[in-house]
Amino acid sequence: MSGETVYGWCERFHRRYGTTTKETGEVLFGRPYASRQKSFPSELTRFVRVTQGRLGDEFQILMRHTPIGCYWPFLSSEQKDRVRKISAQGNGDCMFLASGFTASQLHSAHPLRCCIQCMDEQLKDSGETTWMLMHQHPGVWVCPVHGKLLIEFQSHEQIWTQPSPLPEDPTAGLRVRSQRELDALRTCAGISMALSRRDEVSEAGLRIATIDRMRSLGLMASPARINIEKTKKWFAQTHLGQCLGRSERMKSVQAGTWMRSTVRGARRAHPLKWILLWSALFEDESSDHIVRAFQDACTGLLTNGDSSQFRLPFEIAFMQGGAHSAPSHVVDAFDRSNTLEQAASLLGVSQYAAKAWLEQDPLLAHDWTDRIRLERLDHACDRLHLALDMNPTMSRAKMLATFRAEVEYLRAHTPKRLRSILDRIPARRHAQGQLFQWSEESLDQR
Ligand SMILES: [Zn+2]
Repeated sequence: MSGETVYGWCERFHRRYGTTTKETGEVLFGRPYASRQKSFPSELTRFVRVTQGRLGDEFQILMRHTPIGCYWPFLSSEQKDRVRKISAQGNGDCMFLASGFTASQLHSAHPLRCCIQCMDEQLKDSGETTWMLMHQHPGVWVCPVHGKLLIEFQSHEQIWTQPSPLPEDPTAGLRVRSQRELDALRTCAGISMALSRRDEVSEAGLRIATIDRMRSLGLMASPARINIEKTKKWFAQTHLGQCLGRSERMKSVQAGTWMRSTVRGARRAHPLKWILLWSALFEDESSDHIVRAFQDACTGLLTNGDSSQFRLPFEIAFMQGGAHSAPSHVVDAFDRSNTLEQAASLLGVSQYAAKAWLEQDPLLAHDWTDRIRLERLDHACDRLHLALDMNPTMSRAKMLATFRAEVEYLRAHTPKRLRSILDRIPARRHAQGQLFQWSEESLDQR
C-alpha cells in the first residue's frame, strides 16, 4: 500500500500468510525476532530477494518505507554514502553506525502510531489497515492529513502488531487539553514532514534563527550563552511543554537540558530536538508560518535580516557552515591546550602566530575560550570543595583569605555554584561572614 512502512507491509504479510511470529521473521529476513525492529529492519538484502524487489531495492526501501527521511538531511555526504553502501550489504544495525545516530536514538522515540480516520479510509479502499510512514516520523503525534491525535502502541512483545483503533494502553500517547496544545503538535508534525522531504539542511541556518529567537525571548544572556534555568522554565510553560510534561515517556524531553547542545551545535542534534525547539519558540505564530520559516532556515536563508548587525564573528562562522577555517591540526592543538603558550608550542610556532589563528577563525576562538572558562570554573570549584573536605572546620574568612583568586573568579562568573560551596560551611561559623565583601542578598540576586 502506498505510504506504508516496511513493518506495516510485513505485518500485513503475516496476517495473510503467516503462521508464527518467528516463522514470518525467518521467511522475510532470516531472523526469528525481526518483528522487534519496528522502524528500521536489518538484513534488507534477503527481504528484497524474497519480495522480488516489489518494494524496491534496499536503498529505496530505506528511503520510502522507513522513517530515515527525517534523519537523512542531517547526514554529511560521506555518511550518506556509507548508509547507501551498508544498506546494500544488508545490515541494518551497521546503518546506525554509518549514520552517526545510535540505535537507541533511532528507536527510543518510536512507538508505532496510527490514525483512526486514516484507518477508516484504508478499510474503505482496500479492506485492510496498515502502519503509515508519515505517522512514524519523530515528532509526529497528530495525523498530518487529518490533524487528529494519533494512537500509540509501545508494545515490546514479540508480535507483528496490527494497527487498531483501540490502544493497548489508553494512557500511552499524549493527552491534549487545549486547541493551542493541539496546534503546537500540528506544527511539530508539519516540521517533521518538511524535514522528511529534504535532502539537506543547514544546521547553521537553524542555529542562527534559533539564537535570534531565543535572544528576543530573553533566553540568552549573551549571544553565546544560554540561560539554562530560564530556558527550562520557559519550555515547561509553553503549550508544547505542558502537553509533553503530562506524558511519562516524554517527561525527560520536557526538561529542556538538551537545548544548549542543540543550539551550540556541540553534537549532532536529533531531528526531534529541532522540531520541538521550533514549535515551542514560535508558538504564537500560525503553524504554516512556522513550517515555512523552518524551511527557510534549513536552506540557510534568514527571515529576519535586520538582526545581522548584532551578529558576532562566531555566529557568522556558524552561518557559513559552522566549519573551522583553521586546519584540523590547529584545531586539535587548541583542543589540547589551556594556554596560548601551550598551543604555540604544540604547533611549533610563535605565540603571535598562534594568536593569529584565533583571530582568523572566530569559531575556534569562541569554542576555545568557552572551554577554558568552563574548565577554570570547574577547577576553582574542585579546589574549594577539596579544601573543605580536607579541613571541614574551615571558616568562611579563612577560605576567602586562602583562596581569594578562586572565590573572586566564581563570584564573578557563577555565584550560584559559589553559594552552594559556601553552604557547606556550617551556620555556627557564619559570624565571620561580615568579612565578606558582598552581602548575601547581592549574591542571591545574581
Ligand atoms: Zn489520518
